[in-house]
Amino acid sequence: MEAILKEYFGYEKFRYGQQEIIENILAGDNALGILPTGSGKSLCYQIPGLMFEGTTLVISPLISLMQDQVDSLKRRGISAECINSTMAKRDLNDVMGRLVRGELQFLYVAPERFNNEEFKTAVRHAEIPFVAFDEAHCISKWGHDFRPSYQSIIPELKALLPDVQIIAVTATATEEVEENIQELLNIKNNAVFKTSVRRDNLKLSVNGTYQREQFILSYIKERLEQSGIIYVSTRAEVEKLSVYLTDNNIENVIYHGGLGKKERNDNQQKFVSDEVKIVIATNAFGMGIDKPDIRYIIHFNLPGDLESYYQEIGRAGRDSRPSDCILLSTQRDVNLQQFFIDRATATDQYKDHMREKLDLMLQYNKTSKCLSSFIVKYFNHDEYVEACGQCSSCLSAERTEPMTSEARLILELVQETDGQLSKELVIQVLRGENADNIVARGLDSQERFGVLDSYRTSDVNHLVEELIMRGYVHCAGNRMHLVEKSLDILNRKVKLYTVPYRKHYNERVNVSTDSSPNEILYDKLLSTRKNLADKHKLDEDAIFTDQILKEFAKKM
Ligand code: ADP
Ligand code: MG
Ligand code: ZN
Repeated sequence: MEAILKEYFGYEKFRYGQQEIIENILAGDNALGILPTGSGKSLCYQIPGLMFEGTTLVISPLISLMQDQVDSLKRRGISAECINSTMAKRDLNDVMGRLVRGELQFLYVAPERFNNEEFKTAVRHAEIPFVAFDEAHCISKWGHDFRPSYQSIIPELKALLPDVQIIAVTATATEEVEENIQELLNIKNNAVFKTSVRRDNLKLSVNGTYQREQFILSYIKERLEQSGIIYVSTRAEVEKLSVYLTDNNIENVIYHGGLGKKERNDNQQKFVSDEVKIVIATNAFGMGIDKPDIRYIIHFNLPGDLESYYQEIGRAGRDSRPSDCILLSTQRDVNLQQFFIDRATATDQYKDHMREKLDLMLQYNKTSKCLSSFIVKYFNHDEYVEACGQCSSCLSAERTEPMTSEARLILELVQETDGQLSKELVIQVLRGENADNIVARGLDSQERFGVLDSYRTSDVNHLVEELIMRGYVHCAGNRMHLVEKSLDILNRKVKLYTVPYRKHYNERVNVSTDSSPNEILYDKLLSTRKNLADKHKLDEDAIFTDQILKEFAKKM
């Protein structure tokens, strides 16, 4: 094993998990490996494949991914080929001939191939002791990227190769998906190998900014020499953001399913070769990209579930160096995701399942707990994890400042004006706003006018809300009143610690997502909204209601 690792691949040591999985395969059992992105899952089937007599069949979902792996095996002097739908008939027959003659060590195919009779005949006549399912979460209908063609090959495979040994590898499997894969592929519990999904070099953050474009622009300006991916849900928004950055002299390429194949490949190549540092893309981009130095991944929209999110951020920092994963999102995304679920052609049970997943994604988006631990728990319930100390939640907890003196200033103003001022006025006075109603009422000469002028309205508002919620002040009929408990703070009996303002979703939103958002539909939806907004002379955000979504659904 070690000899092969060194001789063919030039590596000194196995990485965590690889050796156990390979030993299990060599002992004759089926196995499942759940290892993080970039951990070297391919070697888990390539090394046994080199040790077995005959051809190893690798079932992989993406042509580009197969091609890369085949090229890299060939470079190492290993006979490998792939079969895909874009090949000429002659080349196809040639590869199948080599398969039957036992000249191939590896053959990569897409799952659809099992619908092809000629391929099946070739398989029947070939010697195939070992089959690998790469990206095996695609097999499970509980996975975030379920592909029906994967499931139908399982009975085919059992009929064609009854004694074949199987390995499945994936980076993203919840416990549910894990059990499902085990059941489908007949993998014993003691043959499941799993390492923590935690990746310490990824610095996770959630940012509830309303100005996503500006945020991205100023973020990029500070790191022009670094590579990054910006994920956006829709094709139209990809193009829009690209224009915005270009207008601001930030060079970028785009990638989405609506581009021609050549343009897609060219753009990807420019990004991978460092000719251009930034790619703005839909989730069509990324699988199989082996660029080690992606320093940041920004999500412009809320993904539909944490598995997709984890898979996408997993492309950052494969060189183990620190990298940022920033989630920006708006309430609008949630509505849209919900819409996708509602209109999906799926059973009610499945839709409920999708809603649950979106709900967890939303919880991630608003949690004050450690984000890294949140993800680990999502994938593995029993894993004990400590807070990472570097995500936005951990940092904001650290930054928690005693706000007692600010709270006292608020209460002092309420004390002096007891029952006269609304919450808004209290905030305006403290911030020292020279609004007409303040001047008219002479409040600008109030002793506490402007004492909190270094705070934003939202910060002061947050603190006032916090005081109301904790019962330190009373607000009735939108008038602020002192209560007995206020004295605890006024008389310095208690200290108040509160976190700096951070945007939260107020209610638990019951929603969810299409796990693979339909970019085109998404765009249509947005343009419908724009038309409606123009027609009714309203702001686009005001148009985005459930009712409009339903109207749109009717038209489809
Ligand atoms: P995954 O499929 O888990 O995302 P890959 O199989 O594509 O990861 O491997 C990621 C990179 O790690 C590849 O460049 C691979 O050659 C390299 N790699 C794999 N195993 C080792 C090892 N034991 N030592 C060093 N590098 C390795
Ligand atoms: Mg892989
Ligand atoms: Zn943390």
